[in-house]
Amino acid sequence: MIDVVIVGTGFAGIGMAIALRRAGMHSFIVLERADDVGGTWRDNRYPGCACDIPSMLYSFSFETKTDWTRAFPPQSEIWDYLRTCVAKYGVAPHIRFKSEVTEARYDERLRAWNVTLRSGETIVARVLVSGMGGLSNPMIPDIPGLQTFAGSVFHSAAWHESFDPAGKRIAVIGTGASAIQIVPAIAPVAAHLTLFQRTPPWIIPRFDRPTTVRERLLRRFVPGYAWLVRQSMYWLREFRALGFIGNTKILALAQRIALRHLHAQVQSADLRARLTPAYHMGCKRILLSDDYYPALCRDNVMLVTKPIREVRARTIVTHDGAEHEVERSFLPPASERRNSFRRSKSTDDIARASKKPGLTAPDRTSASARAVFRTSFSWSVRTQASVTTRW
Ligand SMILES: Cc1cc2nc3c(=O)[nH]c(=O)nc-3n(C[C@H](O)[C@H](O)[C@H](O)COP(=O)(O)OP(=O)(O)OC[C@H]3O[C@@H](n4cnc5c(N)ncnc54)[C@H](O)[C@@H]3O)c2cc1C
Repeated sequence: MIDVVIVGTGFAGIGMAIALRRAGMHSFIVLERADDVGGTWRDNRYPGCACDIPSMLYSFSFETKTDWTRAFPPQSEIWDYLRTCVAKYGVAPHIRFKSEVTEARYDERLRAWNVTLRSGETIVARVLVSGMGGLSNPMIPDIPGLQTFAGSVFHSAAWHESFDPAGKRIAVIGTGASAIQIVPAIAPVAAHLTLFQRTPPWIIPRFDRPTTVRERLLRRFVPGYAWLVRQSMYWLREFRALGFIGNTKILALAQRIALRHLHAQVQSADLRARLTPAYHMGCKRILLSDDYYPALCRDNVMLVTKPIREVRARTIVTHDGAEHEVERSFLPPASERRNSFRRSKSTDDIARASKKPGLTAPDRTSASARAVFRTSFSWSVRTQASVTTRW
């Protein structure tokens, strides 16, 4: 029996593995269904893919990277960063690729997990840590007729690397965080781009830019400088969070900033109206972009706000009967399926078990560790917090 099985090699799984190594533990393995590490940042390779957390914050606190090329890290740099961490902290020998976990069953008698892989192999471990990610299974929405479409349909998380958008008529469905990165990246070369929007997002300026040589030198050579930059970014964001827990003045200010951004970038009153959210900021994820609105103002870009009724061989039909011609279509992650595998007990059961009288302190710790780690979604959210803050 081994001590710990970790599932996934995104920030969560790698962070956990490094923490175990740093704690002097060696009896653990990391199971990854793909053939490389990186999770989100390995899988999402669409044009314009980048993080909307500043580079200096989107990293482990114990492994500060000082030479990010931009204020907000592009996908390729984050993926490289994770691979560097794996090599530097000696995690690689613990990773087993092409090892998809299909089931985890807790054996009360053994007080251990039986972790089953797709190959049929079972691994027995005292503790199971899920780092499977909350967004790692892309979901294609169930739109009538989608199968009949003659062009190619793909999710942004499975971008066809051979796909060249130049000169094509393209449809993008959804206006979430990925779509607002893809649209400005491909609109300048596409023949025509139709964007289907259900709900407009609130968008604030991103202020992305290349980092200067001076900044990189300061971060690298001046003791405490990188730490100070990170701390200020962290506390600024924590301050903003007050808006979500009841300080309406902060949200009202942010909403004003977003509206000013929209007015500054979109001259057409009709387009502005269609891009103005009808809900309070904070009800959906707030997005950051400097180039999304300008892309929508292009002559070759059309924003459609009517719901999609069906897809035909070469067109997408909306509920008002309009047919929008497309040669190629793809679907950004309007939704992702929550990741999971079959598990034998609910998190609540384990949380209750951790409070059982008679358990020794180490028992309680390991039981509550299991309770915390077993819910992939909450773990992923925690990971985001710890990636950017606590590590
Ligand atoms: C397009 C996109 C953009 C994003 N942008 C931001 C951003 O700007 N800021 C931000 O804070 N967050 C962002 N996120 C969220 C991002 O997912 C998290 O920040 C973080 O990277 C999640 O890390 P993770 O380790 O929890 O999961 P992931 O990175 O999803 O890693 C999960 C890993 O588990 C593996 N796995 C899953 N199931 C199994 C299984 N059954 N068996 C074996 N292996 C399995 C997967 O292959 C994957 O390698 C974004 C997400 C996406 C999809």
